[in-house]
Amino acid sequence: MSRSPDQVIRPEILALSAYHVPPASGMVKLDAMENPYTLPPELREEIAQLAASAPINRYPDAGAASLKAALREALAIPDGMDIMLGNGSDEIIQIIALAFARPGAILMSVEPAFVMFRMIATFTGMGYAGVPLRADFSLDVDAMLTAIARQQPAVIFIAYPNNPTGNLFDADAVSRIIEAAPGVVVVDEAYHAFADASFMDKLVQYPNLLLMRTLSKLGLAGLRLGLLAGRPEWLSQLEKLRLPYNAGIFTQLIAEKVLQYPGILLQQAEAIKTERTVMSKRLVALDGVEVFPTDANFILFRMTQGYKAGKVFQELKKHGILIKNLDGSHPLLKNCLRVTVGTPAENVQFLEALQASLKTSLT
Ligand SMILES: *Cc1c(COP(=O)(O)O)cnc(C)c1O
Repeated sequence: MSRSPDQVIRPEILALSAYHVPPASGMVKLDAMENPYTLPPELREEIAQLAASAPINRYPDAGAASLKAALREALAIPDGMDIMLGNGSDEIIQIIALAFARPGAILMSVEPAFVMFRMIATFTGMGYAGVPLRADFSLDVDAMLTAIARQQPAVIFIAYPNNPTGNLFDADAVSRIIEAAPGVVVVDEAYHAFADASFMDKLVQYPNLLLMRTLSKLGLAGLRLGLLAGRPEWLSQLEKLRLPYNAGIFTQLIAEKVLQYPGILLQQAEAIKTERTVMSKRLVALDGVEVFPTDANFILFRMTQGYKAGKVFQELKKHGILIKNLDGSHPLLKNCLRVTVGTPAENVQFLEALQASLKTSLT
């Protein structure tokens, strides 16, 4: 008699709950850190032509040489460093974890952090260690150094700026962690476009540093393109695990085309940063809302004075606004909500709905 799934699938996979993406059709979508702007019509026309003439009967260029050259230039990858592409940076995290998953190996991060770090550790059979941030979401360097000494993690992931908190960690604190780490440290710069800091230059200084970027938060989330930069001795090993055609032909052609106009996405990022300031100020002015500093394209805030995040979240949904409820996901995020910065019109809709929700959600 054949066995049932729970007799053959790994127990840690059976114990997982699937990553939940809430339905958003018809909603003002401010839950997933997407860029709310579209590309200009002329560029969309160029993309349409490219798509129409793409040889989709053939496999894409497995090495994506042309796109990699464009990325190297656009992202100012230091000389001597290699790059590896992923189907989003999520896939790169998975490739790294697969490579480092020796029996008993630990993947370390901070808590709260991007949930995929923990999930992918589990997918790949790695142990996971999460070191709590301080209550203000800064890095607890002493706790990190102690945990590193004790657990000897094979790989440490640090998002810079951090998700879901939005803050940029102290650069010296991150450097001390890189210096103390027995394995590699991956600095995940998914929100680089909205911050004025990067570890890209430090690749030259630190042999155990890998740097990850993605085009998703910049405005190309639908293409699925992430990138890892680092020394050839690490990247040549990781490349062995990359499935050969992970970047499809449309991803390669369209990303390369958009990169020919670097000003467009950067201008959109500037518009988002300006709106971030406007929105933070308006949120700060509300009673019952504590706003945290952000260097990303989203704002973390906590409901105070008796308001409940879960209730406010539901009320917003009734008004057609989808954000992210983080209450219950980590003790430090008690009563916290996260909103992505949208267009000025969307942000006004959100703020008006939030004010209306505050009126109805105390009862
Ligand atoms: C969104 C996000 C990613 C994943 O982005 P991809 O779309 O898979 O490239 C990676 N790291 C952090 C911190 C993120 O917030």
